Amino acid sequence: MSTSIAQIPSFIDGAALPMQDGGFDIPVIDPATEQVIGQLREADAGAVDLAVLAARRAFDQGPWPRMDIDARKDILYKIHDVLLANSEELLRMEVAHTGLPISGVRHHIKRAAKNFEMFAEVASNVAGQTYTQTANYLTYVTREPKGVGALIAPWNAPLALASMRVATCIAFGNTCVLKPSEYTPLSMLRMVELFHEAGLPPGVVNLVNGRGGVTGVSLVSHPGIDMVGFTGGSSTGRAIMAAAGQNLKPCILELGGKSASIVFNNADLEQALDGTLAGIYSNNGQQCLAGSRILLQRDIADKFIADFVARAKRIRIGDPTQEQTEMGPLAYRQHMERVLSFVEVATEDGAILLTGGRRADGFDKGFYIEPTAVLVDSDNARICQEEVFGPFATFVIFDTLDDAIRIANNSSFGLVSYVWTEGLNETMRCSREIRAGVVWVNTPMMRELRAPFGGYKESGVGRDGATTSAEFFTEYKTTSIAIDPVKMQRFGLGK
Ligand code: NAD
Repeated sequence: MSTSIAQIPSFIDGAALPMQDGGFDIPVIDPATEQVIGQLREADAGAVDLAVLAARRAFDQGPWPRMDIDARKDILYKIHDVLLANSEELLRMEVAHTGLPISGVRHHIKRAAKNFEMFAEVASNVAGQTYTQTANYLTYVTREPKGVGALIAPWNAPLALASMRVATCIAFGNTCVLKPSEYTPLSMLRMVELFHEAGLPPGVVNLVNGRGGVTGVSLVSHPGIDMVGFTGGSSTGRAIMAAAGQNLKPCILELGGKSASIVFNNADLEQALDGTLAGIYSNNGQQCLAGSRILLQRDIADKFIADFVARAKRIRIGDPTQEQTEMGPLAYRQHMERVLSFVEVATEDGAILLTGGRRADGFDKGFYIEPTAVLVDSDNARICQEEVFGPFATFVIFDTLDDAIRIANNSSFGLVSYVWTEGLNETMRCSREIRAGVVWVNTPMMRELRAPFGGYKESGVGRDGATTSAEFFTEYKTTSIAIDPVKMQRFGLGK
């Protein structure tokens, strides 16, 4: 890994914004080595204004929204190809600033490229409607791009998630300003440069870097934007929706979760064990769709916990640049400290610490912690209610199908859920009654990109997906045409 310090400016209207003297710089830290690997120049309100104006010009006067769909598709497909062609460089950057294991990040990059291919197709199939039922009128409904998107992304899977926000927005002819997380700007700048190398016109995607409270706030409250797409935590989502609401701008919000992974007595237990481990410990445990509450039916609980703990202890923790690594460091120091603080939160409520709960041995540097699991006796315990966003599993034992559904729904979140069973009744009841945006049966994390994805309750507002993204990122326009002259009331002909 190179030790040189990358300078990370914002990127506006097709070019890097010069880093003049006197700006505010934020160091970017490799969580595996704790070394500074980048220096981010924060975009203040003035820089955000430049970015929004560039996106506005590109939307109001530029070629992108007016382009023939085949030409737009060509560029989106080219972005797909260019991202893949530069995947090694993106991979190095993504691993360095996130600490995510390289094997997982490879999938994220494929997914980032796929997002552009997928939404190119979706956009080319967006169609309107016609109505001829009312005699003498032809009414047709057209779909138009909505305008300038303010897109805000988190640090836990920057390429996969920011690319989803951008692809769903620009494929329909919109333009945008992207603000990635201040912790993970390296691959984001390169990704935006690559969009331009692929032929994207200047101003269609603009990048502003900085903290949420400075750059993010300036962006979402800017009067020049038309909509907000946000992926991140629920409390931030609340602040963003309130700010956007002041200007009556619609939001799509993909937020946090505390998802239930339910293992019934009649499950294929080998599959369930693999699936629950992957559900909580993949991506260093830092994922919105983690199966962080593991609900076990009583008969299988003791053996399942023993097997789970034995496997958790054997997870290969280490340098994320190594292919064999299964878990790398957490994203940054305060996050690691927050995750570890949940051990006390759990034990104060009477939970039993089953494994982990401390920094991993054998590392002089880096924010490594051991895969952690606790057993609680009440699903009202704080550890069963709050999102930890780390490799921290919470087990709860249940007796009946009704109990399992009640516990799964005892949450202010409702992003996804996992059901492990060979039973039809369990499958159908969980599918019908769990209040979450996704129910995965006997599979972990199967993202069907065409289908709606998003959360119930505090896990989100709106849905990503083929038809749902088209719905959010386009406006409907209704045109009614009279075929023969219409008879009207005639004003102003009296004496
Ligand atoms: P976060 O909410 O702290 O930050 C997300 C982004 O919002 C960052 O770019 C941040 O700088 C910005 N931001 C913060 N405050 C802001 C404000 N007031 N105005 C505008 N922007 C602001 O989240 P995070 O810590 O980066 O990511 C972790 C959270 O994201 C977890 O809760 C996780 O569940 C959630 N997440 C959800 C999904 C999903 O698809 N549902 C996916 C990934 C992560």
